[in-house]
Amino acid sequence: MRVASAGGRLIVAAGDGWVDVERASAGTFSSDPQAVYDRWEEFVAWAGSGVDASDAVQVDVFDAPVPRPRQLIAIGLNYRDHAKESNLDIPEHPVVFAKFASSLVGHGATVTLPSDGIDWEVELVVVIGKEGHDIPAEKAWDHVAGLSVGQDLSWRAVQLRPPAPQFSIGKSYPGFSPLGPAVVTPDEVPDPDDLRIACTLDGETLQDGRTGDLIFPIAELIHRLSQALTIYPGDLIYTGTPAGVGAGREPKRFLVPGQLVSSIEGVGDLSINLVNGF
Ligand code: ZN
Repeated sequence: MRVASAGGRLIVAAGDGWVDVERASAGTFSSDPQAVYDRWEEFVAWAGSGVDASDAVQVDVFDAPVPRPRQLIAIGLNYRDHAKESNLDIPEHPVVFAKFASSLVGHGATVTLPSDGIDWEVELVVVIGKEGHDIPAEKAWDHVAGLSVGQDLSWRAVQLRPPAPQFSIGKSYPGFSPLGPAVVTPDEVPDPDDLRIACTLDGETLQDGRTGDLIFPIAELIHRLSQALTIYPGDLIYTGTPAGVGAGREPKRFLVPGQLVSSIEGVGDLSINLVNGF
């Protein structure tokens, strides 16, 4: 099952298009795309019973499918080859920071580059569907509503500005957290722990890896994060990026205007249009 948001309303994939959830459910579920995660089990049961696709429409421009997460958690250095290209040690504990929800945009958005030196990071994003604290790894997938495709756009000069790194602010400028097009339930993908993950700029491949190379896979991340945090329905976890970022290259290279497409096998292709704002 795939859910998304367009025109500020929750939609679900049906037939070869999308159906408005509030109308199709005769008001049982609200049009608010964030609210559905508080009733996720009930919603999955309703959607699984068969949604009438006769009113399905095509959608080209989406909002972020999860627009107002209580927590937008992000993980750094979660692929060995990316830690290596960053000249940093393989972490013993997840490297955690926050992104701010004001930076979320959806598939088809135009994102303004505020400066030269903005880097790309394609990431698998986990959407939480059930509250929990101190969750054992073997129970962690019970807390997952679905998966989505994200970009963790990063202004490296701000992120690494001395005296202490400022990951949260350097990765939260407007449009720096593209997400979507949809949230996809894990049963829709071949192996939710090993998916091809890649991104391209105007057709040129920038990153191409596999989520099977995650140092802390999804269940382990939820386990470790929840030892400290309570996680809530509708929270997002950006799980880290594979090798191939611009700052890890010699010479370094950064984003220029064009179409940035981020893809995860079975989850989707998230496209944004980059323009210069400086
Ligand atoms: Zn990242």
